[in-house]
Amino acid sequence: MVDTTLPNIDPVFPCRDCQAGHMHRDYIAYFTWLGDELIAVPDFPAWVCDICGRCEYDENALTRLTLLLSPNAGKTIGTARVKAAKSRAKPKVQRSTQPE
Ligand SMILES: [Zn+2]
Repeated sequence: MVDTTLPNIDPVFPCRDCQAGHMHRDYIAYFTWLGDELIAVPDFPAWVCDICGRCEYDENALTRLTLLLSPNAGKTIGTARVKAAKSRAKPKVQRSTQPE
């Protein structure tokens, strides 16, 4: 049975770059750095132009990924607290370059 109340049509919109092509839903590899680690997402939702090949990562997916990768994911940090922490942040640790 096909659900006709919710037509599963991929939204397509004109390319902002070449104006001639259309951006289509696609899945491409996405790479990002998390600290020192390279995170690879093999099937990341994106929009790809069929003419010029311009690709844009899906904004919602990006936001969700950022939340997932954020070390503070799930925590709510008040702006005031962040500001206070920032103003107090001083380079306490000074690493000596001398061996031993
Ligand atoms: Zn284009």
